[in-house]
Amino acid sequence: MSLLPVTLIGDKILKRKAALIKEVDNKTVELIRDMFDTMRNANGIGLAANQVGADKSIFIIDISLVEGHEDSKPLVLINPKIIERSDKKVFIEEGCLSIPDIRAEVERPEKITITFYDTNLKEHTIDADGLLARVLQHEYDHLQGILFTDLISDEIKKSLKKDLNKIKQRKVEFQYPVTEHADYQMQL
Ligand code: ZN
Repeated sequence: MSLLPVTLIGDKILKRKAALIKEVDNKTVELIRDMFDTMRNANGIGLAANQVGADKSIFIIDISLVEGHEDSKPLVLINPKIIERSDKKVFIEEGCLSIPDIRAEVERPEKITITFYDTNLKEHTIDADGLLARVLQHEYDHLQGILFTDLISDEIKKSLKKDLNKIKQRKVEFQYPVTEHADYQMQL
């Protein structure tokens, strides 16, 4: 098992749009395996490649940890693209491994349609609602350089500012390995 350090809010790679994948080489396969180890070790249900400092358009999800979703299969999404969003929006509480121990209600479309490639570069389309739609949008946003804290009201952002700064300065206790500085990037 290989655990990768998780990037934190304030890290530069989390603000950048991820590079598209042209081929799934051995390094990419290894990265995906290590991402699953890292996500499961941190009890996460989704993880984007830039959350381990890799500039690649990949994210993984596994919502089977969540009650009522035990039968869900883990998914690897390469070069994902949300092609449809419902007009109806809903508030759901979110957390993020890059913003440990902070949670906030975030408003997003209730349903989405997403296309992506699997590790054999075969294309797939998923129509999602509920928790699945939520996790897919959260992770997809990571690959666009967007965190859930970018989507909350100024008022809530203000109330979280102190705690977010503590995370950025690494002045809290982390339950899993994290990056040592804001410039961290994985060499691939
Ligand atoms: Zn996240």
